[in-house]
Amino acid sequence: MVIVMGPEATSEDVASIVGVVRSAGVDAFVSKGVQRTIVGLVGDVTQLDAAGLRGMAGVRDVMRISSPYKLVSRENHPERSTVHVGGVPIGPGTVTLIAGPCAVETREQTLEAARMAQAAGATLLRGGAYKPRTSPYAFQGLGEQGLRILAEVREETGLPIVTEVVDAHDVPLVASYADMLQVGTRNAQNFGLLQAVGAAGRPVLLKRGMSATMEEWLMAAEYIAQRGNLDVVLCERGIRTFETATRNTLDVAAVPVAQRLSHLPVIVDPSHSGGRRDLVLPLSRAAIAAGADGIIIDVHPRPEQALCDGPQALVDTDLGELAQVMRDFPPLLGKAAAAALAV
Ligand code: PEP
Ligand code: MN
Repeated sequence: MVIVMGPEATSEDVASIVGVVRSAGVDAFVSKGVQRTIVGLVGDVTQLDAAGLRGMAGVRDVMRISSPYKLVSRENHPERSTVHVGGVPIGPGTVTLIAGPCAVETREQTLEAARMAQAAGATLLRGGAYKPRTSPYAFQGLGEQGLRILAEVREETGLPIVTEVVDAHDVPLVASYADMLQVGTRNAQNFGLLQAVGAAGRPVLLKRGMSATMEEWLMAAEYIAQRGNLDVVLCERGIRTFETATRNTLDVAAVPVAQRLSHLPVIVDPSHSGGRRDLVLPLSRAAIAAGADGIIIDVHPRPEQALCDGPQALVDTDLGELAQVMRDFPPLLGKAAAAALAV
């Protein structure tokens, strides 16, 4: 942290700043410039009240120069991390495809969607048993029955499962079925839930809050890491902007920015970003080109009957093109293409 004094600051002002800082156990180094004095702080500044310092006589500005998130920051961990989900890597060097239905509806629908996912080159299956819906009248998911279906489909296809948990009380139950726990955009600042998944012993897929700044997103990840779980994958899923032509605005810059600030893998959800089937493949290409470590995509055998997010689900006739993207794009970035393509 650096404190910039105004030109009018007196040496008494500087001395009282130094006194406050030192009494908090932090070292203060004073550099007297021609125009102004700078006080550099070294030590654990987390207990210092920046707003209080800013209000002291002679202070012009207080600037933080290191990040408030520590465990997920790349500052202390320059190597980018790989997270393994049921043996499947998500990290630098690969592009992982996660695909499946938005919601688990029936065993048949989930199995068909899983086969579609595999045909496109997916190595992980997504599917929600607990759905965070904007309307209380909308389909809320099958709950534990949905988790049982996912486990059966994993048994049949060999695909490890990624599924959302919406309530801290459900974490042990969902973790007993899931290979990876998803925290959705609406819960991205539900700190109790973040702490609960941090203690659940499963990798976590953390969606970016729809209005979250980069720092808020990484602080959410820090909540999980702080409970001892560093197996966190960040997912950019589009943010709220003034634009209404798409469901959300895919912040493609968030991929390289998050990768520079954090060592955690970063993936993109082109389905929830665009909200439209015709945008999923173009946004997938953009995500991979920007350096995403994976993509997560909705697929559905009969989207016109889907209980959730049908308009953005890819269908059978899209799978060849998705498989081609997964085959052709990663090598352009010097990464391994998705495993075992069936198309
Ligand atoms: C989802 O992946 O099904 C979902 C609800 O996503 P988000 O939280 O990004 O809206
Ligand atoms: Mn959805």
